[in-house]
Amino acid sequence: MDYSVSRRRMVEQQIVARGIVDQRVLEVMTTIPRHLFVEAGLQGHAYGDASLPIGEKQTISQPYMVAAMTAALGLKGDERVLEIGTGSGYQTAVLSKLVKRVYSIERIAILAGRARKILDQLQLSNINIKIGDGTIGWNDQAPFAGILVAAGSPDVPTKYLDQLDIGGKLVMPVGDQEQQILMRITRQEGDSFEREQLMGCRFVPLIGEQGWRPESII
Ligand code: SAM
Repeated sequence: MDYSVSRRRMVEQQIVARGIVDQRVLEVMTTIPRHLFVEAGLQGHAYGDASLPIGEKQTISQPYMVAAMTAALGLKGDERVLEIGTGSGYQTAVLSKLVKRVYSIERIAILAGRARKILDQLQLSNINIKIGDGTIGWNDQAPFAGILVAAGSPDVPTKYLDQLDIGGKLVMPVGDQEQQILMRITRQEGDSFEREQLMGCRFVPLIGEQGWRPESII
């Protein structure tokens, strides 16, 4: 099945129409085969304007949200970025085409394994995936020019701020388990941080030491 027309329509009607202008993000999302990141029975819905289940009570994010979060990082091409919540691997694939190297952490091993397989099939070789608690970041590989967190947290984990390079941007949903605000935090000279609220959003919870405790999930 050729999904290229659906993919182009997705970019024009859901992403460009809502104001995303970063040409590199638009081009990459016009080429990455999003349908390969969902199970066979859902492939016909892969280019719809919604998140979709990927098993283990998790979701692949809505295409517009992937585009908005990626564009908010303002990537140029030579960065090393950290992604928290590999999930299906779709966002990882988008990032991998836009930066030098992606470091991605997923707490559910089965999802990380599936993502790894598809990313390898697509021959995206600049990606390191680690299974574990992403709320503590990836200290060995810090600092990062961008950190993208695809799960909602009650607060901003301090490790993310520590692991952000000067000028680097952290994009993440912050709020309760029902709804969050997509925040962008930019590290400025002298250890100060600029905080911006980008939009309302709704993500699955970020579960871990500096996020939600597993027993508090509703
Ligand atoms: N961007 C992904 C995609 O394109 O498929 C969707 C990510 S999904 C909305 C959120 C992911 O975050 C889930 O796979 C979940 O298991 C993961 N997650 C939640 N808490 C985590 C943590 N502390 N560390 C790493 N991954 C976590």
